[in-house]
Amino acid sequence: MSIAVQGVTKYYGEQKALDNVSFEVKKGEIVGFLGPNGAGKSTMMRIITGFIPATSGFVFVNDIDISSNTTEIKKIIGYLPENNPLYPEMYVREYLGFVASVYKMSNSLKKQIDNVIEITGLAPEQKKRIGSLSKGYRQRVGLAQALIHNPDVLILDEATSGLDPNQIVEIRNLIREAGKEKTVLLSTHIMQEAEAICDRVIIIDKGVIVADEEKNKIYSLLKCQKQTIHVEFNREVDKSELKNIPYVSKVQQIRKDSWLIEAEGEEDIRPAIFSFAVKNNLTVLSLQKEESNLEEVFRHLTNG
Ligand code: ADP
Ligand code: MG
Repeated sequence: MSIAVQGVTKYYGEQKALDNVSFEVKKGEIVGFLGPNGAGKSTMMRIITGFIPATSGFVFVNDIDISSNTTEIKKIIGYLPENNPLYPEMYVREYLGFVASVYKMSNSLKKQIDNVIEITGLAPEQKKRIGSLSKGYRQRVGLAQALIHNPDVLILDEATSGLDPNQIVEIRNLIREAGKEKTVLLSTHIMQEAEAICDRVIIIDKGVIVADEEKNKIYSLLKCQKQTIHVEFNREVDKSELKNIPYVSKVQQIRKDSWLIEAEGEEDIRPAIFSFAVKNNLTVLSLQKEESNLEEVFRHLTNG
């Protein structure tokens, strides 16, 4: 087992952030650690990486008890902390050399730096100051420092937060690529992110694990949920007509020409809305699916 978390509880003063959390990640798996803000994801990751101690419980990484051998653990794990703290005044290459020196990897140092620069696509930016890079490139530097000592296990805390859609796609591809040879635990508060990258999803809410399933199972749960579409037409429409679109369960007018449409079932109803518009000589000015509401999924999961 690459990661084994056994009955971990964490208190910050009076506040319980993790409540008897147990899960395992097998070698080579990419597992999503999914939950809303404040669920306890970063706390769990800081404990696994040995940055803070658990109040009680055990964590084993590659069968080593993390409380017994922090130096050994740090060699096995690559960690991208939340908000990716970097040294803005350092140059990319210099910074990676600095991180590598912490791992005392002087022998193959240059080769390994070249290697992670290539993997993470940092070559064009390697001579720049970190502070002058875009957020997407800074995130690549964060991934490069996590990969520099070629660890078996990657712990990535909200690796794509704050990135624009193109950068998100690029970073997800990097993670998938790195995940081919490594065990990856990545936290996210975005359902779609877990879907895009992971084999399995562990859902945590208020410090408690509420689901631990193959990705497809979580998605079949999700698909029972309703979908909400925001649509704007070029002119007024009769509410009762919108209600006649197949699977539509609820229609709510937001402004004169703009509507929130709810529908049941798996089928994406955007094509149906679009044909409705065509049939009625309407122009669709915007058509947007609202992101799945995690809170709702949690309610669904916790109520059985
Ligand atoms: P997540 O990463 O899922 O958003 P966190 O692990 O950051 O959640 O936080 C879990 C809970 O613990 C939150 O209620 C948060 O306010 C609290 N918390 C996190 N870090 C600290 C800290 N250093 N001191 C006190 N409370 C903390
Ligand atoms: Mg967090």
